Amino acid sequence: MVEIKTPEQIAKMREAGLVVAAVHAATREAAVPGATTKDLDEVARKVIAEHGAKSNFLGYGGFPATICTSVNEVVVHGIPDEKTVLKDGDIISIDAGAIVEGWHGDAAFTAFVGTGHAPELIELSRVTEESMWAGIAAVRTGNRLVDISKAIEGYIRRQPRPASGKYGIIEDYGGHGIGSEMHMDPHLLNYVSRKRGKGPKLVPGFCIAIEPMVSLGTAKTHVLADDWTVLTDDKSWSSHWEHSVALTEQGPLVLTAVDGGRAKLAEYGVTAAPDPLA
Ligand code: MG
Repeated sequence: MVEIKTPEQIAKMREAGLVVAAVHAATREAAVPGATTKDLDEVARKVIAEHGAKSNFLGYGGFPATICTSVNEVVVHGIPDEKTVLKDGDIISIDAGAIVEGWHGDAAFTAFVGTGHAPELIELSRVTEESMWAGIAAVRTGNRLVDISKAIEGYIRRQPRPASGKYGIIEDYGGHGIGSEMHMDPHLLNYVSRKRGKGPKLVPGFCIAIEPMVSLGTAKTHVLADDWTVLTDDKSWSSHWEHSVALTEQGPLVLTAVDGGRAKLAEYGVTAAPDPLA
């Protein structure tokens, strides 16, 4: 069952999305050499509290923190701690969420710590982010869920291969419905699977978190003994980008982007829906 939202509910999700955007801005600024991932978690906790929102990550399945901090070969679900000190040249994916009046937002980005990153890493993050936008541009009435998967995978496969060989599109994790809970049906693959069918038709009120995860090597991952931290099997570095998106009668609204996705969607010839809070 896919939860279809009313415009009023989408407006609440927009409020939550803007809290997530504020967490992103603050943690991006704080992700500098010498900071610990615990420091970033503190920053996120404060921003969520200042907005009178609640964390959906803290306590989720026993998760002990407010954000996920995934450094270098960690793909997703890294746990912030005092031991992990960010170094010049690292890349970090920060995943954050917030709840406003019962409605959820969830988004992630990859940041470069310090300077001097190899062009291959910069391109990895760009390809991952852009594949997310290609997926978001496919959120339109009449499309099926698989059209989002196809857009994400298609974008990645069309890019020049990295020197390491090829991009690994992580298969063990994917996007998800979002709304009155953080993780809801349907599950969204970041690639097309013949086994999975086309998925539901997209209609106004459909909300989805779109989150490609891409590595410079394998698509295979494993989980550390802490039961959370997900690493690539070959230790290749990876990137993770995510936005929560609502389909409205006026088109897609990127709930967790400050401009609602207007600028990036325009590059795809798509007009973002008007911001219900504007
Ligand atoms: Mg998510």
